[in-house]
Amino acid sequence: MLIKTLLNKVERFKSFVYGAICVQLVGGVEALVIDIEPRRNSRPLCPECGKRGSVYDRQPQRLFEYLPVWTFKCYYRYAPRRVDCPSCGVKVEALPWGYGKERMTFSYQVFLARWAKRLSWKETADIFETSWDTVFRAVKFVVDYGLACRDLDGVTEIGVDEIKVFKGHKYLTMVYQLNAGVRRLLWCGPERRAKTLLRFFHEFGKERSAQIKFVCSDMWGPYLKVIAKKAPQALNILDRFHIMRAFSEAIDQIRRDEVKQFKANGQENVLERGRWLLLKRPENLSEKQTARLGELLKLNLASIKGYLLREDFQRFWAYQRPDFAGKFLDNWVTRALQTDLEPMKKVARMLRSHKPLILNWFKAKGQLSSGAVEGLNLKAKLTMRKAYGFKTLKCLEIALYHELGKLPEPDYHHRFC
Ligand SMILES: [Zn+2]
Repeated sequence: MLIKTLLNKVERFKSFVYGAICVQLVGGVEALVIDIEPRRNSRPLCPECGKRGSVYDRQPQRLFEYLPVWTFKCYYRYAPRRVDCPSCGVKVEALPWGYGKERMTFSYQVFLARWAKRLSWKETADIFETSWDTVFRAVKFVVDYGLACRDLDGVTEIGVDEIKVFKGHKYLTMVYQLNAGVRRLLWCGPERRAKTLLRFFHEFGKERSAQIKFVCSDMWGPYLKVIAKKAPQALNILDRFHIMRAFSEAIDQIRRDEVKQFKANGQENVLERGRWLLLKRPENLSEKQTARLGELLKLNLASIKGYLLREDFQRFWAYQRPDFAGKFLDNWVTRALQTDLEPMKKVARMLRSHKPLILNWFKAKGQLSSGAVEGLNLKAKLTMRKAYGFKTLKCLEIALYHELGKLPEPDYHHRFC
């Protein structure tokens, strides 16, 4: 009797009542089974039009998995009615605790999905003695609900980026909202082509796209074209994070080429384990690393020249006025082009051809957080690391929306976890 009282406190269904409760074997394991009956004289609900109709017949009893109680698995048992709907025909009634052929109740799906945000999907499945696939379906249910019910008004700042997935063999294009207080993943889709971003703008809609004031992106040509076409009113900013990433990639390329050269010449590899020394900012190095960097700096290496060019470029971000910053940029580009560092020259040419968009960073200064895209990207990478078992892009997309989308959840007055 007490269990029924508790159930009614946690979840009360208007047209249904809890019946007998017993412990019995389900799939060879003892479980708590709670019978549910329709309230006397209640009429079933048509799943298509939402109107009530008369009972046509009843189907055999089905189990719907509910939240576990102590360590017992718990099920609702109910024989769904078929409703004879005047407009839609004979249909299986809509139920307030579950839908269609899904074996889990809504509450159990939300419960699993919440845990799957804190733990990996595999761990969640292990703890609740269920399958990875069940956890996946639960998360998908919550994400589908969230995407359908989220509020997309007031999106005025967005960031576009791509992340490498599946060991770098594929890309996902990510579109983030960057407005303070609502930083979240708005959209993600496979590949990083013009077509990909066009799909975002298409789904986002013309009216909303017209409200966008700032777009942060990297120098990827296809993105820039689409942004200029679909949000022409927005200030497209090539931000610090994206530009400095291009530098890091160039330094890494120079270092790899140089190490190859050492090997070919049978020379000692002085750059061994030097990757992070060169990629990190000097203020983030440990004392030991700083000492080692000091030794490297004495050598006349291409990697070091690249490193110094990047460190020199950091001054660019300290300018207040776009015109001064522009002069510095020209000057730096000239110097970089005089070196024999092909990857760095590539960066220089890229900077030169995108100068106006880069200088937009100074125009938007103070209005846009430059670290926002970086922060969201880090989170996305963490999600992927937790993502053991994500074999398809679709799975990964759902996981990313779940973690980064700040999606609304189905509303229950009782919080289970
Ligand atoms: Zn109907």
